[in-house]
Amino acid sequence: MTRQVKVGNVLIGGGAPVSIQSMTNTDTRDIFATLKQIDALQEAGCQIVRLAVPDKEAAFAFGEIKKSASLPLVADIHFSADLAIAVMDMGADKVRINPGNIGSSEKVASVLSKAKECGIPIRIGVNSGSVEERLIEKYGGVTADALVESAIDAVKYAESFGFEDIVVSIKSSDIRMNYDAYTKFSSLCDVPLHVGLTEAGIGEDARRKSALGIGSLLLAGIGDTIRVSLTGDPVQEVILAKKILSDIGLKRTGINFVSCPTCGRTQVDLPSIATQVKEKLEPYSDRLERAGKSMTVAVMGCPVNGPGEARSADLGVACGKGVGLIIKKGEVLCKVQEEDICRVLISELEKMI
Ligand code: SF4
Repeated sequence: MTRQVKVGNVLIGGGAPVSIQSMTNTDTRDIFATLKQIDALQEAGCQIVRLAVPDKEAAFAFGEIKKSASLPLVADIHFSADLAIAVMDMGADKVRINPGNIGSSEKVASVLSKAKECGIPIRIGVNSGSVEERLIEKYGGVTADALVESAIDAVKYAESFGFEDIVVSIKSSDIRMNYDAYTKFSSLCDVPLHVGLTEAGIGEDARRKSALGIGSLLLAGIGDTIRVSLTGDPVQEVILAKKILSDIGLKRTGINFVSCPTCGRTQVDLPSIATQVKEKLEPYSDRLERAGKSMTVAVMGCPVNGPGEARSADLGVACGKGVGLIIKKGEVLCKVQEEDICRVLISELEKMI
């Protein structure tokens, strides 16, 4: 098990539930817009939010935002130990630095010593885009081993100062390299891990890559906090992060929708029934999500796998020739005509919720 750190009121590692974080994409100097986005992220289910702090003006704004932010705030700092120190004075709940670009080891030491004084954790964020030159030369390029060595060196350096309040991320935009780096690091070190796939991109590709990159690690028991990286509105990152946690059973909320792929045995228009049901489920899924509850609804095409799958769902239908058996909590309720399946399922769901 990893050791534990505390970011504001959120525990990371040490068996705490996997938390969801995101990053604002407003200009941090625009205090109003940034606070508004933080509220939207919080409403969507985000638990920790990171803000870019590129200069002194942004550091000042960070302090103002901190006074009324609805979530614990992490300051994202590159190239400047002075800014890292400044945001800690402004009340940062965590600071993210990249040892590859913060400067000399003395500068890293000054950041660690300030964090120790303030009692806040530091995330060491190693990224495939900014690995130290000496490691690129040693490994003949950016590799999982180079990423891990960079992270381990930074952890050892921090620990040599007696600073253990650390979270590590080792992100790559390459799913295989990302997986190899995180699994190797977690076999060597008990520092809690912030897991993500960096620069996943946009649209469906980004969603698929993020689900694979983050989901594969979580299924292997690796990852204490997650951040999905999508180009665009960060609220979408939080929604996808929640879905990933729900799909792998770590934080199941909303409706888990199951439908069969159809085959030569299907004797109803299953794609149309499944699409209608899925659409109608959306508001109920949102309600369950807000209540932190979940259920499974199954739409199955025939008597082969249908009854079994529908019985193990909370509510389901197993179809036959132009008809469907509605099954609720394992019990057959009734047989209905194909055109009535969606209506009857939704009316039964209404009673259950
Ligand atoms: Fe085919 Fe039946 Fe399986 Fe659907 S449940 S894929 S119809 S065998």
